[in-house]
Amino acid sequence: MTKITIAIDGYSSTGKSTIAKQLAKALEYVYVDTGAMYRAVTLFAMRNKFIGGLKEDIEGLVGALSTIVLKFIYNEELGFSEMYLNGENVEKAIRTLEVSKNVSRIAEIQAVREILVQQQKEMGKDKGIVMDGRDIGTVVFPDAELKIFMTASADKRAYRRYKELLDKGEKVSYEEVLKNVESRDYIDSHREFSPLRQAENAIPFDNSDMGLEEQFERMHNFALRIINKKGR
Ligand code: C5P
Repeated sequence: MTKITIAIDGYSSTGKSTIAKQLAKALEYVYVDTGAMYRAVTLFAMRNKFIGGLKEDIEGLVGALSTIVLKFIYNEELGFSEMYLNGENVEKAIRTLEVSKNVSRIAEIQAVREILVQQQKEMGKDKGIVMDGRDIGTVVFPDAELKIFMTASADKRAYRRYKELLDKGEKVSYEEVLKNVESRDYIDSHREFSPLRQAENAIPFDNSDMGLEEQFERMHNFALRIINKKGR
């Protein structure tokens, strides 16, 4: 069957990865969570004290970029790939609120973006991929056959993320999570290099009042329609 490229972009905590994972599974495509890559570089920066925001911090991180090896390794038991940073499974460590608080400042750095975008393009060169992030439809795969742009109200998104963090045992307040979601949206949308924006030919998708099943059905149908049309 013809394979396509599916780009899912949107604001923080819109549930992009949940739906992208389901879609990839149903289509037997590869799923790539690009946020995990920016988070892993951020964890590296935090551990190596490159997050002060000073010119020297940025230069230090940029200088060390060639030593960072990122890999997604499929976990059979969980049914999805986990992020490895220089051989260490960092899947849990990159999902904390501390990493969320620093990630958008690291993702603004042009050299970081260049290196990660190059790796992402390589992962998708054979198509048959669902990739989620902020610049997938605009920069990584501008020719993707299906582009979705996900939105939802900030309070709904913050509440989902708040519950997720509580379930993982993190002690956070709803207000703190809401502030983080809003601040990441702002930085991601206003940065100089590849800011978050809806690609011209992306389908806007507001899931504020939509359950998971309905979201999956709709997206799966979008994808099947394009795949069937191409296959003819
Ligand atoms: O998707 P997730 O919320 O895990 O992404 C974390 C952060 O990584 C985003 O807030 C954004 O700053 C950055 N990011 C990005 N470009 C991408 C994916 C994520 O700048 N393609």
